[in-house]
Amino acid sequence: MMETDNYKRLRDLMVQTQLVPRGIKDERVLAAMRKVPRHLFVPDFIRHSAYDDMALPIGDDQTISQPYMVAVMTELLELKGDERVLEVGTGSGYQAAVLGELAREVYTIERFASLAEAARNRLIDLGYQNVYAVVGDGTKGLEDKAPFDSIIITAAAPKIPDPLINQLKDGGIIVAPVGERFSQVLIKGKKEKGILAEEYHTPCVFVPLVGEYGWKG
Ligand code: SAH
Repeated sequence: MMETDNYKRLRDLMVQTQLVPRGIKDERVLAAMRKVPRHLFVPDFIRHSAYDDMALPIGDDQTISQPYMVAVMTELLELKGDERVLEVGTGSGYQAAVLGELAREVYTIERFASLAEAARNRLIDLGYQNVYAVVGDGTKGLEDKAPFDSIIITAAAPKIPDPLINQLKDGGIIVAPVGERFSQVLIKGKKEKGILAEEYHTPCVFVPLVGEYGWKG
């Protein structure tokens, strides 16, 4: 069997054993996760673990999130296909690729230039022409590309940064892990008349969001 067929089989298994039984229902999300080659977003030495039910190291002390967490967060965004999305915390670029499958345009910001560059190259190699990887402090958002239909923060925030709320369209959804430095709850906020109506979802553990409106160092 070709190596690519083998990874395809592992991806289908990932969806069937980790996502569907835990309640992920959005067919578009499941299809995107069956498609994006997660093994190309992790370092070579752990490629064999790419489809395991866990987060994995990607360098600079950062991680690529567990597949289930990517699926939950993506599903909460309720993407239909015509959105402009902002992701804070590019990391490997995997979540950005999944978003690229489901939205019109994706801007993703990373504070480490090394990670951003590696992610950008991967996304280009894989043909994601609607995903733009930028280096910077994502807690300040991306003023010149705002407003966004949807925003996702994939690092742990002490609170949702005000600039991100400002850069979200009315009616738009923001999803983020919010809480303490080492334990958070996934929050889905819908902006209504300028204010976020928040729902609380699953407990989670993300690496910290470090920046002007996040953790300090
Ligand atoms: N979404 C990623 C995983 C995110 S890990 C993936 O699919 O692989 C969280 C990332 O957020 C890390 O790479 C970290 O460097 C980055 N990060 C933390 N604070 C940030 C900030 N203020 N702005 C941009 N990126 C930040």
